[in-house]
Amino acid sequence: MTHSILRVLAAALVFGGLGCSSDDEGSSGPPNILVVMADDHALQAISAYSGLLNSTPHIDRLAREGMMFRHALVTNSICSPSRATILTGTYSHLNGQFTNWEQFDGAQVTFPKLLQQAGYQTSLIGKWHLHSDPTGFDHWEVLSALAGQGTYYDAEFRDGNGTITREGYVTEVTTDRALEWLEQRERDRPFLLMLQHKAPHRDWQSSPAHLDLFADTTLPEPPTLFDDYQGRASPAAGQTMEIGRDLSETDLKLIRPPFLPERIWPEWDAAYDPRNRALEELMLEGDDLVRWKYQRYVKDYLRTIASVDENLGRVLRYLDENGLSDNTIVIYTSDQGFYLGEHGWFDKRWMYEESLHTPLIVRWPAAVRAGSVDDHLVSNLDIAPTLLDAAGAEIPAHMQGRSMLPVLAGSAPADWRTSFYYHYYDFDFPPLTFHDVQRHYGVRTERYKLIYYYLIDEWELFDLDNDPTEVSSVFEDPSYAEIVRELQAELTRLRTELAVPQDP
Ligand code: CA
Repeated sequence: MTHSILRVLAAALVFGGLGCSSDDEGSSGPPNILVVMADDHALQAISAYSGLLNSTPHIDRLAREGMMFRHALVTNSICSPSRATILTGTYSHLNGQFTNWEQFDGAQVTFPKLLQQAGYQTSLIGKWHLHSDPTGFDHWEVLSALAGQGTYYDAEFRDGNGTITREGYVTEVTTDRALEWLEQRERDRPFLLMLQHKAPHRDWQSSPAHLDLFADTTLPEPPTLFDDYQGRASPAAGQTMEIGRDLSETDLKLIRPPFLPERIWPEWDAAYDPRNRALEELMLEGDDLVRWKYQRYVKDYLRTIASVDENLGRVLRYLDENGLSDNTIVIYTSDQGFYLGEHGWFDKRWMYEESLHTPLIVRWPAAVRAGSVDDHLVSNLDIAPTLLDAAGAEIPAHMQGRSMLPVLAGSAPADWRTSFYYHYYDFDFPPLTFHDVQRHYGVRTERYKLIYYYLIDEWELFDLDNDPTEVSSVFEDPSYAEIVRELQAELTRLRTELAVPQDP
């Protein structure tokens, strides 16, 4: 605790971030914490990271005023497990959330509980998707329809008392509720607010305001849109998450999506009907039809992100106007990354780069150098220890992540991790499996990635320097035999250190 405060003070002296705004409410004492999490937000769809597809000025502002992590990795690239890891600072095999189907065990230690014990007011608003009732929050209201996925319009929220339908577009409504909570909070205590959006999760329904965004644009295609899955183990070809084959008519907006309120139909139909008629006239087939589907899918996805970004802008403005920006840690992240046509895919799950990575941007003027970019291997495991450290609370020894405060202060410890363990389980796992991605675990280092599909005993090794798009496994290449031996030993070491049970 003492060390973390010293580090913050040291960083503040270096960057001159403390004490400039003494009239701010709560400008001294433990920092407020605002975690804004989108669902399935790919790095490729944030202009601070990529700039190829869209513009996200408010997320970019956080990057400009804080630190952007280019290698923030998730332990298990799917929604509920990632959320459990963020809350607990542990891997799936410790927190019990292997897939989207288990009920999260809310009796276990989470960072919101520990912050609550440390005197924070804690609040959770939006998508939860962990099935059990949230614990550790003074206030919570979460999306409840569709097994916790929620709907884009007129979403049903539940709290400890029951459910209520809130009319409007979910990203705006979730933000409204967060701002209302901020407004009525107790001003003499620090707060933790987790503002968790549904967007841009499937099935990518735009707000009325953005239905025409990108309408006259042709977005660039990723180089692997027409991946043939050669040169890899068998699972890459065995999945069911291809844009060309596996998107449904509602995903593609060829028919009106379910749960779209009738009052929205006129605007919706005015946007999609002419485009869908044009498609019919074109009679596209083969690769041309895949190209069309790619454009439709990614444009709808990006439309939902335009709302996420605008609504982040509303929250940042609230912090500015209420003197809270200096002493509030703002984190923008997602539960994992996502495929926007890379390997021909939508969705996540794989240890391949696009879904292994998640956006992570941290703004904290007192301790983080503005506009910095970091390439250390950090993880969603590290969020809980980092926030506890920042609040001056004890980090429980069983947590498997590490405080990023020194990294944020620009002085990463020499022994920061140089390898990272990953494990995906949601295959042939009751009651349902989507997208047929084989179970796998593996290790990523700065240059290499070794993946083991353990139910079928197949391996892949990627040399990310030579093959950044991961289309050519060199596992069988004799010139990599030594690397394979080293990485297999590292994988064994990590599994032992992390207490991963034997499979299956
Ligand atoms: Ca997700």
